[in-house]
Amino acid sequence: MSDGVKNQLSKTDSKLPNLAGLGRDRLRALFTEFGEKPFHADQVLKWVHQRGITDLDVMTDISKSLREKLKTKTQITLPVVVDEFLSEDGTRKWIVEVASGSRVEMVFIPEAARGTLCISSQAGCSLDCSFCATGKQGFNSDLTVAEIVGQLWWAVKELGGFSGELERPISNVVMMGMGEPLLNFEPVMEAVNLMMEDCAYGLSKRKVTVSTSGVVPAINRMKEFTEASLAISLHAPNDELRSQIMPINKKYNIGMLLESVRGYMASLPDKRVPVIEYTMIAGVNDHRQHARELAELLKTFPCKINIIPFNPFSLSDYSRPSGSSVTNFRQILQREGYTVTVRTTRGDDIGAACGQLVGEVADQTRRSQRHKAKAASNRRVFDRADNLAVTADRL
Ligand code: SAH
Ligand code: SF4
Repeated sequence: MSDGVKNQLSKTDSKLPNLAGLGRDRLRALFTEFGEKPFHADQVLKWVHQRGITDLDVMTDISKSLREKLKTKTQITLPVVVDEFLSEDGTRKWIVEVASGSRVEMVFIPEAARGTLCISSQAGCSLDCSFCATGKQGFNSDLTVAEIVGQLWWAVKELGGFSGELERPISNVVMMGMGEPLLNFEPVMEAVNLMMEDCAYGLSKRKVTVSTSGVVPAINRMKEFTEASLAISLHAPNDELRSQIMPINKKYNIGMLLESVRGYMASLPDKRVPVIEYTMIAGVNDHRQHARELAELLKTFPCKINIIPFNPFSLSDYSRPSGSSVTNFRQILQREGYTVTVRTTRGDDIGAACGQLVGEVADQTRRSQRHKAKAASNRRVFDRADNLAVTADRL
């Protein structure tokens, strides 16, 4: 990691507006409030998100007097990357410290043509899905807009994408790191829109994906805020099983979930389908009958299906399904006409699983303390995550 960059960035308690965490409309409103022309918003966006500059003195197309004003009235603060890991297969993992003191993780998965960045939206998660390492920690804090978009900023910087010489190295962003994005709704919406903003990262709206376990009222609201793509963590073909492994299903069942997703997809101006994620857990939801039931459930629901073989971790008794049960499951769905992908495991050696990241939380909840104690008694170090595997594929 380049020290020069690290030194520019720091945590601050300041309540001044953070220019790195404001979308175009908010930035324009801020300049208007300062009695300045709103077009300065585009200048700031380009400096920060296209050139990687956080030092106002370098922003020379903005007058000196305005820069001085911005120095006193605003801040440009991004989260701090405290560690990084590089896998033999090119996968990278960064540990990011956020203002709450918690640490979250993000993963870059290089692919043939550019790559996917998997980012976090919360430190920990309150939803406690039975198969998820992040859920075992409990919830610690919501990330701010700058902490969410700052993960992309860092990754672009570290991959040389701000230099102007390289083509932007990141083509896809998936919110499949730590946390439930739709329980941190407004910051996530603002951040994904910044990623798609032409004056910022200009990513295609098809390639910025919010993954959710199914927070139905938030899915219903999404159409008013964004046109990002959607991935749904379904993981079971019926309510009984889904409620056992995903407590949120007791509140918002499969019928409500699919209806809300339909509504969101219908609101998009282009033709797109959601991705249905299905984490296959041996002996739990991986039977052929589950595949048949899933095919039946989704019969009138346009979608792609993405199978994720369960990634084991130390605090879970679940195991990964056999290769043949994954193949059988996939084939049943394919025979019914579904487009199905199976995630491949990448970055084993650095413990970097999208959707299975553990980071470290500063202020442990009781649930996470209980799990930590259990982990210690197992003499396994949970947050090293050395048995995790990165899951990578294109959405
Ligand atoms: N909270 C959001 C996004 C983060 S989880 C959600 O649940 O969708 C990203 C994906 O990783 C989800 O599909 C999640 O179900 C999956 N996942 C979590 N733990 C996993 C594990 N141990 N093995 C495989 N996939 C897992
Ligand atoms: Fe939270 Fe998603 Fe993990 Fe469930 S799978 S506990 S919603 S991060």
